[in-house]
Amino acid sequence: MNSVIIVGGGLAGLVSANYLAEMGVSVTLIEKKSYPFHRVCGEYISNETIPFLKSRGLYPEEFDPPGINRFQLTSVNGRAALLPLDLGGFGISRYTLDHFLYEKAKNRGVTFLLNTEVESITFNADQFLVKTNESSLSTPLVIGSFGKRSKLDVSMKRPFMQKRSPYAGVKYHIRTDHPADLISLHNFKDGYCGLSRIEDGKYTLCYLTHRNNLKMHGNIKAMEEAVLFKNPFLKSVFQNSEFLYERPEVINEISFATKTPIENHVLMAGDAAGMITPLCGNGMALAIHAAKIVSELVKEYMDGNLTREQLEINYSKKWTSLFANRLWAGRQIQRLFGDDWTSNLAVNLMRTSKPIAELIIRKTHGVSF
Ligand SMILES: Cc1cc2nc3c(=O)[nH]c(=O)nc-3n(C[C@H](O)[C@H](O)[C@H](O)COP(=O)(O)OP(=O)(O)OC[C@H]3O[C@@H](n4cnc5c(N)ncnc54)[C@H](O)[C@@H]3O)c2cc1C
Repeated sequence: MNSVIIVGGGLAGLVSANYLAEMGVSVTLIEKKSYPFHRVCGEYISNETIPFLKSRGLYPEEFDPPGINRFQLTSVNGRAALLPLDLGGFGISRYTLDHFLYEKAKNRGVTFLLNTEVESITFNADQFLVKTNESSLSTPLVIGSFGKRSKLDVSMKRPFMQKRSPYAGVKYHIRTDHPADLISLHNFKDGYCGLSRIEDGKYTLCYLTHRNNLKMHGNIKAMEEAVLFKNPFLKSVFQNSEFLYERPEVINEISFATKTPIENHVLMAGDAAGMITPLCGNGMALAIHAAKIVSELVKEYMDGNLTREQLEINYSKKWTSLFANRLWAGRQIQRLFGDDWTSNLAVNLMRTSKPIAELIIRKTHGVSF
């Protein structure tokens, strides 16, 4: 097989597939689920991605995504700060966006193996062998875009899998009374919750919590009432909104540990290369940007302009210079959140010092590409 194999069809995988196919590279994408499906994600995408998405015909214009350009931060006890977001973002559900990108990629000739889980990826004699639950495929190149945590990380013996991660994520779609151009981030003990608008007048309510909160209160509803409701903003959102799912989407073991962009010659993109803390609202922008740079280098390699060694060195250098600092900053800023004292400090800093507020926002946001 001379097709590049992409393992995992989230944003990094779907954008890479679209861009590579557009550049004339044959692509097979293997995804363990089938579209459309919901994911735990705040669904706010930084506007830094718009020039690239538009230039490649991948901006989901037809869903009229709302523009978001103000940011509200509240502390555990409900003290609030409001700031403009210079760059801003737009809102769209992953259910809609991923399905849109999947349809585009199919039209561009990408082969999809859906409901297919990759079990192992091995590299030998300049070829990869990709084993799924159904077959084995060989390929000259693999892009690993299988997200923050996959069984593949175990089979690849990636070091971050040796540590358990204490964070869980929960997401709802709701209808509520909230300004369309505002993204809010509400702290609660050992967690924080984002609220922002997506398509069709709906809103995404999504939070990250330490698993101790869940352990202590037994179930999600009891935890929300006992912990999240201490923040009056959250109490009001939970009590005065229409919840559109029967149950929330939930994921566990979210890790922000450092990873590497290349693992046994597999080119990692998106969360598989490193996950930025959700409060930065930028994981999707990073996934899209990584998809852009990896695809451009893969095209060069497939055209015979780069050796494998050059490909790997170039990708690693580019990835590190673009993302390593942002991932680090996200981890540091996350320390200010989820605690009474530090979340009040963060809110006070944002209320009283415009330069500090701007610095925090700048550190976590990129520039347009
Ligand atoms: C609580 C929370 C809130 C967030 N909020 C935001 C936000 O508001 N804005 C933002 O920009 N980012 C946010 N993020 C981050 C964002 O969701 C991710 O950074 C983004 O989804 C990364 O895309 P990806 O393509 O790397 O991975 P994913 O989108 O997770 O896709 C990975 C895909 O790989 C598939 N897969 C995994 N293993 C296999 C396998 N073995 N075989 C085949 N397929 C496989 C999975 O099914 C999945 O479809 C948030 C994250 C969390 C946890």
